[in-house]
This record gives sequence, structure tokens and C-alpha cells, in this order.
Amino acid sequence: MTAITMNFASPRLLLVSAGAVRQIAEVLAKFGLSRPLVVTDPFMVSSGHLRHCLDPLAAAGLAVSVFSDTVPDPTDTVIEAGVAQLNQGDFDCLIGFGGGSPIDTAKAMAILAAGAKAGMTKMRDYKAPFAADKGALPVIAIPTTAGTGSECTRFTVITDTENDEKMLIAGLGALPLAALVDYELTYSVPPRTTADTGIDSLTHALEAYVSKRANPVSDALALSAMELIGANIRTAFAEPRNTAAREAMMLGATEAGLAFSNSSVALVHGMSRPIGAHFHVPHGLSNAMLLPAITRFSVPGAEPRYAEAARRIGFAAPADSDATAAARLITGLERLNKDLSVPTPAAYGINEAAWTAKMPLMAQQALASGSPANNPRVPTAEQIVGLYREVWIGAAANR
Ligand code: NAD
Repeated sequence: MTAITMNFASPRLLLVSAGAVRQIAEVLAKFGLSRPLVVTDPFMVSSGHLRHCLDPLAAAGLAVSVFSDTVPDPTDTVIEAGVAQLNQGDFDCLIGFGGGSPIDTAKAMAILAAGAKAGMTKMRDYKAPFAADKGALPVIAIPTTAGTGSECTRFTVITDTENDEKMLIAGLGALPLAALVDYELTYSVPPRTTADTGIDSLTHALEAYVSKRANPVSDALALSAMELIGANIRTAFAEPRNTAAREAMMLGATEAGLAFSNSSVALVHGMSRPIGAHFHVPHGLSNAMLLPAITRFSVPGAEPRYAEAARRIGFAAPADSDATAAARLITGLERLNKDLSVPTPAAYGINEAAWTAKMPLMAQQALASGSPANNPRVPTAEQIVGLYREVWIGAAANR
């Protein structure tokens, strides 16, 4: 066995259960917290979902304020507005309630509020490789999608509105103090979002496992997540009220989050963020559009690992050779996209000329994020442009 060097960071408390959200007041009390600002999105308010979080807080006699202006793929300007509200009150913690967007917003607010005092007033000041280790106040995360895993990662992803760049911000300041992981909150997630967020989790697990920065603990979590997600993603998509599938997907998303937060993501995520920023494709969906082609490119760098992933997801049999299993991974991912009705970039409404024109900039932004350097096969900028082209052409050929 080779020598192991590993950093492993996770929330201090992970509460995973049906109805976990009902324990929010007890969790705050455990940490001596009592003055939360709840960060969420407008849909959580208008649909009434936010009550799942607010009612137990009110029952415990806590006065609660809400910032609900979060947008999908949160922007620097929204974070600044959130910090302005934060500075107006005497808050001692943030509760991120919702999908990855509200949770990432809460994390970024904590980071910006801490650094602003030292003159770092723009989110781009914190862009990786900067170590965003300081948060002005702790974040408690309650995910309602399964999911980004943001509830247990040391990352937040914020779009710079000046240049449409989705910036990766990394550090202990982004790591929640506690996470309440309650699959019952996901029954209402519509099938399209179930598929997109589920593929996001699957991509986290796969990339954590093949990453050059994988370690024994991230491997164990990634493999378990791939088993859970592979066996349940189609059922959760087809049967939103299926308890076993929703529970497995939620646990899989959290395990995948812990895995990639302590290993890394890789080329798929590096190439996916620019698609989200320039063409406003939901994060999991842009991952799905890329996943088969990028996996085909990457397999030669770590065939045994991709083969094991295929066996765990359920695309290959335990007795399949590595070459057979790795080939089945690619066809399995293509099939999964069809079964989950993943649209092609063109069917999603992206203009071919706009896609082509953005390819060099997207390749440059992908490389600058650092994620491609963790891929088992590290591409050049030209190769990334070629892969963006292949995703467009391949998608067109499959239509
Ligand atoms: P999201 O938070 O943007 O939510 C998508 C939509 O689903 C929204 O309209 C939301 O209102 C709705 N929704 C959420 N929960 C629901 C529920 N229970 N019922 C019905 N509707 C519900 O989407 P997401 O995919 O969860 O998060 C995406 C964001 O997370 C992106 O910005 C992405 O970059 C980021 N992300 C962060 C990390 C990290 O480690 N911090 C990892 C992956 C992705």
C-alpha cells in the first residue's frame, strides 16, 4: 500500500432521517445559536415549502428573518444584497434551505461578510485557488433536492455578472457547520429537476472516484453513492412519491458531496460550469449533456476505475473485464440520458453559432477553474474545444 496523505473535512453534524428538518431548533440550540437568517428562493416561499423550516423554529420561540431573493445559479449581485440584509440585523447563523442555489448563496454570504471587513468586497476576490477559509457566521444547510451535495461540501459556485463566469469558491468558510438531510423534502421535486440533480450527484461520485486526488475515504463514499444512485435514479424520476428511491437518492447525493469535497470533481464539471454561465442550462443538465463524451475521452487515463464505476452503477456485470465494463459505462450513460429525456444542447434551444463562438472562451474558463487538472486524462485547451464540438455533433447525430 502506498503512503496516504489525506485531508478530510465535513460538517460537524450530519443529521440524516425522514423528518430531520423538524429538528432544526434543537440543532441550533446544540450549538448555542438562536438568531438565524434563513436563505431560500422565491418558489420555496410561494409554494409553502419554507414552512417545513420556519414552523419548528417558531414553535421553539425563535424570531426568524428570511432572505428569499436567491436565483438559480446564484450571482455576485444577489450575494451582495444578501449581505446587506445580513448587516442590518443581529444574526448569529445562516440557514440555507432549498436546492444548491440557496445553500450556495448562504455560504457565499458568510464568506463575503467575513472578508468585506478586510476590503475584499467582491465575490471574484474569493475565486479558487484563493482559500476561502473564513465565514462571518456558521451555515446550517437543509437540502430540498438530491442533489448538489452542497450541504456537506467546502465549495460554493457563484456567477460573476460582469463576465458571466461561474466561479468556484473553495475553503472551510463554505463548509456548513451542520446539515439536516431529509428526503421527505424531495417528494415535490418535479421529474426534470429530479433527473438533473440526480445526474449531478452521479457525476460527483464518478469524478470523485476517478480524480487524481481520490483517497480511501472518498472512494468508499463515491462507490456507495454510485450504487445508490445507479439503482434508484430511474425510479425517482418515474415515481416521485417512491419512498425507497427518494431516500436512496438523498443519501447518495450527500455521500457523493462528501466524496468530491474531499477528492475533487474533474473535467465534466470544469466544462459544465461555462455552459451553465453562458447558456443558462441547469447545472445537472449540462453535466448530463457532457457525461458520455467526456467519459469516452477520459477512460484511457483510468480504465480500471471507470470499469469499477460501471459495475457499481449497474451498467456492467461483476465478471466483465475492465475493457468491457468501461465500454458499458459509456453506453450506459448514453442510455440513461435517453431514459431521463435529457435534451441535446440544440433541443434545449442553444444556437449552434453561439455555441461555436463561445467554445474557446468556455475552454479557457474550464481550464482556469482547475478542475480539468484532476482528470485522469488532462486535456489541452484545443482538446477541450474539440470535446465541446463533439458534444454538439454527437448530440446532433443522436437526435
Ligand atoms: P436549484 O437550487 O437552482 O433549484 C432548482 C429548482 O428546483 C428551483 O426552481 C427550486 O425552487 C426548485 N426546487 C428545489 N427544491 C424543490 C422541492 N423540494 N420541490 C420542488 N421544487 C424544488 O438547483 P440545484 O440543482 O439543487 O442547485 C444548483 C446549484 O448548485 C448551481 O448553482 C450549482 O452550480 C450549484 N452546485 C453547488 C455545489 C457545491 O458543492 N456547492 C455542487 C454542485 C452544484
